[in-house]
Order: sequence, then C-alpha cells, then structure tokens
Amino acid sequence: MGEHAAPILVTGGAGFIGSALVRHLVLERGCAVLNVDALTYAGHEQSVADASSSPLYRFERGDIADAKHMAALFQAYRPQSVIHLAAESHVDRSIDGPADFIRTNVVGSFTLLEEATRYWLALDREARSRFRFLHVSTDEVFGALGAEGRFTEDSPYRPNSPYAASKAASDHLARAWWHTYALPVIVTNCSNNYGPYQYPEKLIPLVARKAIAGLELPVYGSGLQVRDWLHVTDHVRGIVAALERGTVGGTYLFGGDSERTNLSVVQQIADLVDELSPSDTSRRSLIRHVADRPGHDYRYAIDASATRESLGWRAEVAFDAGLRDTVRWYLDNDAWCDEVLAGRYDGSRLGRVMSA
Ligand code: NAD
Repeated sequence: MGEHAAPILVTGGAGFIGSALVRHLVLERGCAVLNVDALTYAGHEQSVADASSSPLYRFERGDIADAKHMAALFQAYRPQSVIHLAAESHVDRSIDGPADFIRTNVVGSFTLLEEATRYWLALDREARSRFRFLHVSTDEVFGALGAEGRFTEDSPYRPNSPYAASKAASDHLARAWWHTYALPVIVTNCSNNYGPYQYPEKLIPLVARKAIAGLELPVYGSGLQVRDWLHVTDHVRGIVAALERGTVGGTYLFGGDSERTNLSVVQQIADLVDELSPSDTSRRSLIRHVADRPGHDYRYAIDASATRESLGWRAEVAFDAGLRDTVRWYLDNDAWCDEVLAGRYDGSRLGRVMSA
C-alpha cells in the first residue's frame, strides 16, 4: 500500500478508531493519509498528534454531509481509496437526540458514496480497479442475541437503537452503491472496541475515569448485558486486511471472542484501578446499579471464523492484558481526557429520556 503516493482518505480520523487507524497507516505502514473530520465533540486532533508531523499526513476539517466540500477534496487529493469511519457513535446520545445520527450516519454516508462514485467513475482504468470504499460499521445492526448463538455475515439486520438503525441504513446504502453503480465497496461490522483515545463517555473509559477519581460507578440495570470486546489495534489491522485482501461487495465481521457482562467489566476495571492506583476505598464499593438504558440490547457476539479464514486475520490482544493497558493509559493521560472533555461532557448520565 505504501508504494502509491495517492493518499487513503480516512473519514473520522480524529475519533477513537479513526485515530488508531491513522497512526497505524502513517507510522507503521508508511502510507499517505488524508484525514477528513468535522471535529465534533468526539473528534480531536491531539489524538493523531504522533502522526501529524509526518509528511505522509494531511488533515482537512470537513463535514461528510457537505457534498461540495467532499467533491473538492476528492479532486484536490485524488485518493487511492476511502476508509469511512466518520459517524455519530454513542447509543445513549442517539436516544437523547437522534437527528445528528440521521444527518451524519445516513445523509453523510450517502453524500460520501455519491461523491466517491463520481470521482471513481472518472479515474483511469488502473486507478479505478484499485479503488476501494471501505465502510466501517458495527455488529449492533444485527440487533440483540439471547444467551445462545453469534452473529455471522448472513445474520439479518434488526437494529434496535437509533444509532444502530442509522448505521444499518448506511450499510444498506454502501451495499446498494456496489450493487447498482459497481462502486468497489467493502463493509466491515465489528464488536465493541476498547483501548486508548476512546472518548470518556463510553463504558470502559467512563468507568475507569470515575474509579480513578473515587466517584460512583454506574451500571445500567442488572449489568448482565453481554458484549464482545475487541482491542482497537486488532480492529485496525482487520480494516487494513479487508482493504487489501477483501472481496469487493463482501462483508467482514471482526470480534474478539471476549464476551463479558457489563458488570464484570466494571468490576474488573475497579480491581485494576485498586491495583494500579491504590486507595483506602475498594473501588468495587462504588458500583451503583442505575436505571437501565431504554431498549437495552441483551447480548452481542460475533462469529469471526469466516473473516479469519478469508483474510487471515485474528484478534491478538487478550482482553485481560488489553484492559490493564487501557486502564493504565487513562491513569497516565489525564491531560488528554481533560482537554477532550472540557466544556463538552461532564460525565453525567446520557440516554435515559427523550430531550424536549
Ligand atoms: P468516535 O465517536 O470516537 O469518532 C467519530 C469521528 O467522526 C469523530 O472524530 C468526529 O469528529 C467525526 N465526525 C462525526 N460527524 C462527522 C461528520 N458529519 N463529518 C466528518 N466527521 C465527522 O467513533 P469511533 O468509536 O471511533 O467509531 C468510528 C466508526 O467505527 C463509526 O462509524 C462507528 O459506527 C464504528 N464502530 C465503532 C465501534 C466502537 O466500539 N467504538 C464498534 C464498531 C464499529
């Protein structure tokens, strides 16, 4: 990939997963990257600071729903491929205010597909055959599982939250642009990610930060909902494998084979903070069960065997080691957290009722 001067256009590269992808592409693979990000509350240039001094890295602040701007960026930078991550990504916020999710995840993805197609159709034969539009999505589009079974590439779409519905819509658009216009689309669906630089509104960094500060640790309802966790660096390697080796029109699922109840994750974080930053109070004693999330999905789990076989990808970071490193990262990176939270989010409960 590194041999082509044309950049990979990454949308949402100032967010959690996008910034990990940008760091990987620029610093580890020597690949030119154009990062296009609107810098919403969740996007921060500090997250890509390590890569930003490289001549391979370019940044453009832009909204994927702005067709004119996206068209201009395609013309100015002539990317070899697109990896599309820009999204509103927090289920709780989608309950409070779904409009932004429809605008960015649905209308924004549509706009990007349109502009990518226009650009792709005008490429010369070789560049056109190399071009890929990789759409990054979530396993939440498949809805909730009971105690048994796992999602596969053939699972039906049954999104339950406004977030999941907006991502499902964008998956369908991506697929339709492949089927109708032959745009070389690849779709990936991944389980819950964790790791450094995740905005401290999501379960793991939120609870880690609260435990470090000695604050109450909220657990939604019984806490017995099950999520499958994948370290962000494993997801990033999967995205790159799908870009390089994936079949056009294909779907690839990534999961960590690390199912945990939310309660057990919170307990594990509490124990890690006790160990890494000892205090007189056991952090487990700070756990409080609070009102459940409306429509909270019971369980997600991924069967990634087809992806392992076709892409030769597998998760490498064991959850216990990855969680320990992540908690340590949040202990060591207060300055990043303070900066990204300042004036944007105070750690309070989101996603319980519809705002007026
Ligand atoms: P994030 O919220 O941390 O980052 C999203 C980024 O998109 C931010 O930098 C934000 O500024 C940018 N953005 C938002 N609206 C934009 C717009 N209109 N135009 C341009 N940029 C915009 O999200 P994340 O957790 O890094 O997730 C990235 C992608 O991966 C999303 O598409 C998400 O659905 C998907 N995904 C996330 C997970 C997870 O566990 N976090 C799991 C599977 C899939």
